[in-house]
Amino acid sequence: GGLIAYAEANTYNGSRGHIAHADAITSNGAHGIASSEAVPKKKKVVLLGTGWAGMSFLKDLNNPSYEVEVVSPRNFFVFTPLLPSVTCGKVEARSIVEPIRNIIRKKNVDISFSEAECVKIDPQNKKIYCRATVNSKLKGEEEFAVDYDYLIIAVGAQVNTFNTPGVEQNCHFLKEVEDAQKIRKNVIESFEKASLPNLSDEERKKILHFVIVGGGPTGVEFAAELYDFVNEDVVKLYPKVREFVKITLLEATDHILNMFDKRITNFAEGKFGRDGIDVKLGSMVTKIDDNEISTKARGNGNTTNTPYGMVLWSTGIGPRPLIKEFMKQIGQGNRRALATDEWLRVEGFDTIYALGDCATINQRKVMEDISEIFKKADKDESGTLTVKEFQEIIDDICERYPQVELYLKSKQVRNIVDLLKEAKGDAAKESIELNIEEFKSALSQVDSQMKNLPATAQVANQQGAYLAKCFNRMEECEKNPEGPARFRGTGRHRFHPFRYRHLGQFAPLGGEQTAAQLPGDWVSIGHSSQWLWYSVYASKQVSWRTRALVVSDWVRRFIFGRDTSGI
Ligand code: FAD
Repeated sequence: GGLIAYAEANTYNGSRGHIAHADAITSNGAHGIASSEAVPKKKKVVLLGTGWAGMSFLKDLNNPSYEVEVVSPRNFFVFTPLLPSVTCGKVEARSIVEPIRNIIRKKNVDISFSEAECVKIDPQNKKIYCRATVNSKLKGEEEFAVDYDYLIIAVGAQVNTFNTPGVEQNCHFLKEVEDAQKIRKNVIESFEKASLPNLSDEERKKILHFVIVGGGPTGVEFAAELYDFVNEDVVKLYPKVREFVKITLLEATDHILNMFDKRITNFAEGKFGRDGIDVKLGSMVTKIDDNEISTKARGNGNTTNTPYGMVLWSTGIGPRPLIKEFMKQIGQGNRRALATDEWLRVEGFDTIYALGDCATINQRKVMEDISEIFKKADKDESGTLTVKEFQEIIDDICERYPQVELYLKSKQVRNIVDLLKEAKGDAAKESIELNIEEFKSALSQVDSQMKNLPATAQVANQQGAYLAKCFNRMEECEKNPEGPARFRGTGRHRFHPFRYRHLGQFAPLGGEQTAAQLPGDWVSIGHSSQWLWYSVYASKQVSWRTRALVVSDWVRRFIFGRDTSGI
């Protein structure tokens, strides 16, 4: 049935694409329909997703020579870093979402939006198949196809349950706005339920046992929000049940906030310990049923079953079904995310881009390319190059592969890099010969340890902005390719590759204290970082409307406390 539907949708879309094009020409005003043949056909860009990567692409795109169709199951953008604040009523859900049409209408580019999810990508015919998600009876017209010249995949990722039994049925996730709203409702309901008469203390304890699985930034922030809520509002509003509240944080590895500096991890574990949040390290969840959560201790393998009232599952992300299917289709097998080159193009496809959480820049290929570059440079096959030659090659490689700059900061290659830096401009030192293999083996050691770019809003946002810049300058750069001369001839180097700039990260720990890790290993923990957090998140809002809403929510909470109405 699906296939037939797609075939029909196909035919339907043939004319649809045409109409859209004619509309675009007319609405430009300058050309009447009669002269439409003289106007070069606009290139059709199809963008999947209205999250961080998609929104940032749309905001920065300003070349009117494209016709853009946005397809996403939600017609708004969500400021995800503030989702944990929604779970306990510090910020309202509406304050952190921006309708995508508000963003589109301000653009001078021809952009349309369809509330639908993409269900299949057909790269051979440059077509995508979609299913409308609007909640109405469309009588079989909910499926349609869209043609593209360029496809931009920015569909994000989904929660990873690692196929743990009972997780889907019994846990909350914190990924979408609706999730945060459900959690908020459930938290308030738990306190109301525990306050009912005729309950035993055991039952109250069970209802008010909040379990968080996963000690990453989201799990930790939710634990902190919940603790603050209990400490600041529950004590006043539900004083009789305060003593029954328990918050448990389960983490499978040895520490929470693994991706942060040791000082932050230690501080967070210490603070949670003092607050009475039960942090259980080395604790793997094996099963969750209606009433109990089963964990296995990593050390001795002991299994424990604990009654709970509410569980938040926050253990990381995995690919969406659309991406899994597409990876299978194009032979990328069982990867964590779609592999792209450094220009964010899906490997092997010149007109399909992938960015944000659904994509990853392929590191393996980087190492192979680096080996090739050294091989070419070593003309006499001596296995050595002078320091000066080394310097030039490394500058070129860094230009082409921004992630190599990160490798160069690592301990393994520091000796060589220090030598290169020291020798700069000193003719005697610059003629010293260095062994290529030694350098490569140091690099590959780092490579195996190097994780891909983190799946964060910061990366997605920068990738969207980068790609918009590429599209804005596409024609110009096709005529005058950028980048180091040695790569220009390959036809790959129309633009500089994507370069990620890490601006630092925050971990709010509750009690108006935040840990901040800024570039250059600069760590700050406490109340001052909390104010930095407020100002950064206020400034990063995508519109003045949401900025005003978020700031007024913060002020409201300071004055009146959280809203505990449960709606
Ligand atoms: P998303 O923002 O997830 O957007 C994906 C879009 O694709 C959505 O619009 C979705 O509706 C749409 N979509 C899904 N399926 C389809 C389909 N089949 N067809 C078309 N469209 C589809 N990062 C930070 O840097 N700092 C933080 O403080 C931070 N805090 C976070 C807190 C929480 C609770 C969460 C969940 C994440 C947080 N992140 C943070 C991570 C950050 O939100 C993600 O890395 C970021 O959202 C990734 O952007 P994206 O555009 O790839 O995906």
